[in-house]
Amino acid sequence: MLKVLKFGGSSMADAAQYQKVKDIVEADPSRRVVVVSAAGKRNGDDHKITDLLYLCHAHLKYGVDCAPVFQMISERYQEIARDLNLKVRLEDELARIRQKMGAGISEEELVSRGEYLSALLMADYLGFEFVDAAHWLKFNFDGSIDKETSYAALAQQAEGRKVVIPGFYGMMPDGRIKTLTRGGSDITGALAAAALNADVYENWTDVSGILMADPRIVEDPQPIERVTYNELRELSHAGAQVLHEGTIYPVREKNIPLNIRNTNEPEHPGTLIMESFDDAPDTEHRFITGIAGKKDYSIVTITKNGLSSAVGELKKILEAFENQNVAVEYVPSGIDSVSLVVDSGKISDCLYSILGELQKKVKPDHIKVTDQIAVVAAVGRKMAFRPGVSGKIFERLGRHGISIRMISQGPDEMNIIVGVDNKDYAEAIRVLYNSFVK
Ligand code: ASP
Repeated sequence: MLKVLKFGGSSMADAAQYQKVKDIVEADPSRRVVVVSAAGKRNGDDHKITDLLYLCHAHLKYGVDCAPVFQMISERYQEIARDLNLKVRLEDELARIRQKMGAGISEEELVSRGEYLSALLMADYLGFEFVDAAHWLKFNFDGSIDKETSYAALAQQAEGRKVVIPGFYGMMPDGRIKTLTRGGSDITGALAAAALNADVYENWTDVSGILMADPRIVEDPQPIERVTYNELRELSHAGAQVLHEGTIYPVREKNIPLNIRNTNEPEHPGTLIMESFDDAPDTEHRFITGIAGKKDYSIVTITKNGLSSAVGELKKILEAFENQNVAVEYVPSGIDSVSLVVDSGKISDCLYSILGELQKKVKPDHIKVTDQIAVVAAVGRKMAFRPGVSGKIFERLGRHGISIRMISQGPDEMNIIVGVDNKDYAEAIRVLYNSFVK
């Protein structure tokens, strides 16, 4: 059994957090591979080390003295090393970075040093070995990840060992350090889990899993216990801030379960993400996995007598949007009308060009544009083929005086999507949550 763990910035923020990480790792002998982020914020007013490193590089670039900023960075790590009595030669490492800064270090190499130092310290503290990401995570010249080479290299370097790996960066074919996108240590963790064919990828953060609804709208929403990769895609498409696609694909591809956990509440099981679950029989009362949404959509409704039976009309309509490079997110339709739901921000500059083309090519009886629409999606694998679910959703919204401007449901019946006025957005989410989750 092998578990690959990734700890985010808040889990690496100070010595007290390192202690929690150690307790978690030591609680289970199969937790043998640990990927870490740079030190994050200790409190609301604090700075993330990665942000300070970017700031340092900006100083270097414009010839401004960056010593005070680098001093802040050094002190964070010195404090952790001192508090935990670590043996690692931190001063030598800091001196080496300082020296490279004098010699024109690249931005990507400098900002990667946050993860590098975190991993050195954590390896020392856990008594694990340090494996530099530059020695296994290899990029191609076009910036994509050379998975085959990387996986083989890590499999060889981590074989039978307990290791700590810095997240967020790897190496280009010419030896330069290259970073992933911001928050990219999640991706490093997923790649490591895939390379080593781990039994589970545990992603340790500061919340007890993915929440069922946005906590800025619903007070204290419950975490999702189990969610499939498909449901997660639906939720993230609908607007939920969940894991980055890049994080998911390496583990999904290898069918490795992904478990989101909370370093500050280690007994909580968090959220488990898998391809599918053997769900409990239909007695399960909760059929919604999560609720997500976004404001500021526009609905373009085209009405033309006989539209649904005419051949090729829909194609012309979609082409008018395609020609302006506007993605159409939902397409609810009726007999004589079709509505196209698009992000208002993406259509605002080209709306009149699209309307002009529609007039010319489709010759509709009527076109109507409705702005200020919010889309709310209730997502749940257990909704599929279950009669009465949408009826209940509409009834609850209606009872709260929320008028539904659009309805859409995917053929796999995993989601029900409703469009409401922007002003009703938060209330619609609260009504759904309170009706079906609480
Ligand atoms: N430290 C990097 C960032 O702040 C990567 C990470 O934490 O995942 O973006």
